[in-house]
Amino acid sequence: MKILFTASEVYPLIKTGGLADVVGSLPNVLAEEGHEVRLLLPLYSGINVEEIHLNAGPVLGNPFGFGQMRLQVGHIPNSTVTLLLLDCPDLFSRDGGPYLQLDGSDYPDNHRRFAMLAWTGAVLSTYGNLIDWQPDIVHAHDWQTGLVPAYLKSWRQRVPKVVFTIHNLQYTGFFEAALYSELGLGEDMYDPEGLEYYGGFSMLKAGIQYSDAITTVSPTYTQEIQTEAYGCGFDGLLRSQQNKLTGILNGVDYDVWNPDTDPFIVANYNVHKLDDKQVNKHALRERCRLEPHNGLLFGIVSRLTTQKGLDLVLEAMPQFIDQGAQMVLLGSGDKSLEEAFLQFGQQYAGQVSIYIDYDEVFAHLIQAGVDCLLIPSRFEPCGLTQLFALKYGTLPIVRHTGGLADSVWENKENLPQTGFVFDQSVVEDLSEALSRALILYQDRESWRQIQQNAMRQDFTWEKAGKNYIQLYQSIANER
Ligand code: ADP
Repeated sequence: MKILFTASEVYPLIKTGGLADVVGSLPNVLAEEGHEVRLLLPLYSGINVEEIHLNAGPVLGNPFGFGQMRLQVGHIPNSTVTLLLLDCPDLFSRDGGPYLQLDGSDYPDNHRRFAMLAWTGAVLSTYGNLIDWQPDIVHAHDWQTGLVPAYLKSWRQRVPKVVFTIHNLQYTGFFEAALYSELGLGEDMYDPEGLEYYGGFSMLKAGIQYSDAITTVSPTYTQEIQTEAYGCGFDGLLRSQQNKLTGILNGVDYDVWNPDTDPFIVANYNVHKLDDKQVNKHALRERCRLEPHNGLLFGIVSRLTTQKGLDLVLEAMPQFIDQGAQMVLLGSGDKSLEEAFLQFGQQYAGQVSIYIDYDEVFAHLIQAGVDCLLIPSRFEPCGLTQLFALKYGTLPIVRHTGGLADSVWENKENLPQTGFVFDQSVVEDLSEALSRALILYQDRESWRQIQQNAMRQDFTWEKAGKNYIQLYQSIANER
C-alpha cells in the first residue's frame, strides 16, 4: 500500500515528545513490510537540512495569502522513507520550537501554520500528479493534522481513506471562532456535528469527525477517553464513534533504546550481564554530584506538566530521601514545576539532582543508571519512557492509567512482576508504591528477578505495525 504520513514532528529531526518517536519508527516498520511510506512535515528552521539532502519539489504557490509554499524532498538519515517538507518560510522559519515561541506562548498564527500543513496533505492525496504518487491511505497525527480529512471532505474526496491517531487528547487544537473563516472550509462544517467546539473550533475534533478510522496509542486510553473524566469534552463524540476507534500500543525502537548497544551510556549490559548496570549508576551519581551511597536511585525523564503527576513526587519523596534514597530529574515545561523542582534540589543537595533541560543523550544515561523510573501520570495515552526503562532493567513506578496500565505489571494475574503500579493520583498511593520498591530493593535476588522479567518484555514496533497494516487494509477496502 501507499501511505502518506502527515505529522508535526519526527525523531531525529525535530522532537518535543513521544509523537516524534512514533512518527520516526512506524513508517520504517511499514516500509520493511513492503509498503511505501512518505512523510509530510513542516520545514521548521530547527531542522538541520544538511543531514537530509533536499531536492526542490513542486511549487504550491500562495493560495491562502499566508506565504509562498513549495515542497522539498529528502530522506531521514538511516531511513528509506521519503520525506516531503513543506517549505514556507513565512510560517515555519521561526526562532522558537514547533508550536511555541521562545517565551513559551503559542505562535499566534498556529491555526494558519497547521491548516496549511493539513491542506498540503489533502492536496497531495488528491492530486497524485504533483509528486507522481497517490496514497491509498493518509495517516494523520494529532490536532496539527486533524484538518486533513476536513479538507478532503469539503472537496468531496472519498479516497484516500484517512486514519487519525490521537497521541494526546488534551491538545485539542482549539482556536477562536473568528479565525475559522481563514481555513477555507465551508460554513456548513462549523457546527456541533463538525468542528465547532465550546464556542470556537477544534482541529482535533475535525480529525475525529471526518476520519475513516481513529486510533489511540493504547487499549486502556481508548476506553478512558470515552469517559467524562478523561474525555476532554469529546467523550460523548468518541462514544458515538466507537465503531471506528481502536487502541494500538506504541512500540520501541530497540536500535535506539537498547542497553547492549547504546553508545550514550558508560557500560553496555544486557539481561545476562546485568552487573554492568551498576557501572552506569556510579557514573550517573558522579555526574550528578550525588553523595556516594548504596541506596536506591530514582529517576525522572519527562515533560513537566500537570499530566505527568510529578507534583505528587515533591510531596511523597522527602521521607524516602531521609531514609537514604536519592533522585535525578531531567525535564522541562511548566515554569512553576521547574521552579519547585529546582528548589527541591537545593533543599536536598547531594541527594537530589535536578536538570531543567531537554537532553536526548543524558536521557539514555539516566535510563541506564537509575534503579526506578517514576511515571505517576494523571493520564498517559501510551508513554514511552516506561517501555525504555523496562529494557534497561530499570523498574518503572507507574500509575494505573492508559499505556502505563498496558505495559507494567505488579500483582497481575499470569503476568510476571515488572515494576510497581498504584491506583489513584494521590500522595498516599504513590508513597506506598515507593515504599514497596524500597523494601523489595533490600532483597537483591528478588529485585534481580524482576529486572530480568522487565528486560525480557518485548514491545517491538513490528507487532504494532502489523495492527496498523490490518487497519489500513480494512478501511481501504470499504466503499
Ligand atoms: P510525552 O509524549 O507525553 O512527552 P512519552 O513518554 O510518550 O511522553 O514520550 C516522551 C519522549 O520524550 C521520550 O522519548 C522521552 O525520553 C523524551 N523526553 C521527555 N523529556 C525529556 C527531556 N527533558 N530530555 C530528553 N528527552 C526527554
